[in-house]
Amino acid sequence: MPLYEEHVIKVHNSLTGKKEVFKPINEGHIGMYVCGPTVYSNVHLGNCRTFMSFDMIFRYFRHLGYKVRYVRNITDAGHLVDDSEDGEDKIAKKARLEQLEPMEVVQRYTVDFHNILEKFNFLSPSIEPTATGHIIEQIEIIKDILSKGYAYEINGSVYFDVVKFNQTHEYGKLSGRKLEDMIANTRELAAQDEKKSPQDFALWKKAEPQHIMRWPSPWGDGFPGWHLECTAMSTKYLGESFDIHGGGMDLKFPHHECEIAQAEASNGKSPVNYWLHANMLTLNGKKMAKSTGNSILPGEIFSGENAILSKPFSPSMVRFFMMQAHYTSILDISDDALLASEKGFNKLMEAINSIDSLATGKSTHFDVEKWRQSCYGAMNDDFNTPILIAQLFDAVKHINLIKEGKVTITESDKDLLKETFHSFVFEVLGLQSTSSSDEHTEKLSKVVELLIQMRKEARENKDFATSDSIRDQLLALGIQLKDSKEGTTFSIN
Ligand code: AMP
Ligand code: ZN
Repeated sequence: MPLYEEHVIKVHNSLTGKKEVFKPINEGHIGMYVCGPTVYSNVHLGNCRTFMSFDMIFRYFRHLGYKVRYVRNITDAGHLVDDSEDGEDKIAKKARLEQLEPMEVVQRYTVDFHNILEKFNFLSPSIEPTATGHIIEQIEIIKDILSKGYAYEINGSVYFDVVKFNQTHEYGKLSGRKLEDMIANTRELAAQDEKKSPQDFALWKKAEPQHIMRWPSPWGDGFPGWHLECTAMSTKYLGESFDIHGGGMDLKFPHHECEIAQAEASNGKSPVNYWLHANMLTLNGKKMAKSTGNSILPGEIFSGENAILSKPFSPSMVRFFMMQAHYTSILDISDDALLASEKGFNKLMEAINSIDSLATGKSTHFDVEKWRQSCYGAMNDDFNTPILIAQLFDAVKHINLIKEGKVTITESDKDLLKETFHSFVFEVLGLQSTSSSDEHTEKLSKVVELLIQMRKEARENKDFATSDSIRDQLLALGIQLKDSKEGTTFSIN
């Protein structure tokens, strides 16, 4: 019997605003689409958090034995600056500024995205389609929507007619907005605006002569709208109705709202049964975003080279930090929060590494099977990783009691404990074990910090013989100290 048959999963569905029992369309199979990155710049930690939330969800479904088709696209055309309807294409703009071909920009940042995800131990999605690889499919959907009367062509562009759609459907049902309110809150159309209503959005945009990213279409040379690509790629690979659509909370409106409208206009079906939205990573209380400069790059956290960080943090530790928050909660990142998280992470890894050497005995005061079920219970409740981690620490406490000789564990319980830790920590949360060599490096750093402190005290006491001797002896070992106004740092050769 597959494991999923033993478990009832509840998910928070943004479409209904409720936690609902998750039931896939085809038993044992799950279709999941997640909006991927727009590859015009390096991904920041905020982007990583959203993708990591869905990586964890993908991992848990797989762990339960579901066959998951996970589609996460690459946006390489059609996403305009400020998510607007009239701006420049984000990728074309970068290409212009850096004097590159747009596809050089796409290649550079797709490679960066994959490298970062690999460092964070992401699983590859089943399909990673690109917008530019699906122009034909997008044109077909536009033709379909036009033929149903929910779009209009003007000057070589095609727009979705939101007002017309709303007469027979409900535009705004995902984001909880009402079209009348949206209309009341928008200014008049600008004179040069060719849309019938400010709420209308582009399905196809005419390419001006200088626009490099262009494709032929029945309406002339142009490029597809950003919302349309996700409709084209999700329905192509997952069908007209599929199980899960995910993305960051900031994509709910207009992006996902427009996806629903497009799908309903073209085939009359609601495209997605469960809409899952991951919440934002913030820095200093504000959304992490490249455009405002309020961001940390993954590379900076791995090297420690960012003004807010006192030290580097390993990818697995950062992953653990992210998993300590529920995916629907806002998470604020700070040096203090990371340092606190690191203590927990090290404690967890130490406990896991010591399971093999635990002495076994007759009885145990810890019901391992019950504990294991509570780990599943946490994950079944809308993928509650912070509760799961709290459960894991309950067992860590117990492992430490066994190590201290205060209680004992039976051989079979020990096996179950180990297997459960491995399932949840490595398979589901996607953490990687710190090897003993990582631990030694960490210890060495602490010893050098200690010597730096002793040298500082010696200097303060004007004991220069000692302070110089510490510096010279460290240098002889290949450890160089560097003094600056901010203090002393070191490098190990
Ligand atoms: P983009 O490349 O801008 O299309 O964004 C890629 C993904 O990152 C989307 O799902 C966004 O919702 C998500 N995202 C952007 N900023 C943040 C943030 N500060 N925290 C979490 N997710 C974010
Ligand atoms: Zn999308």
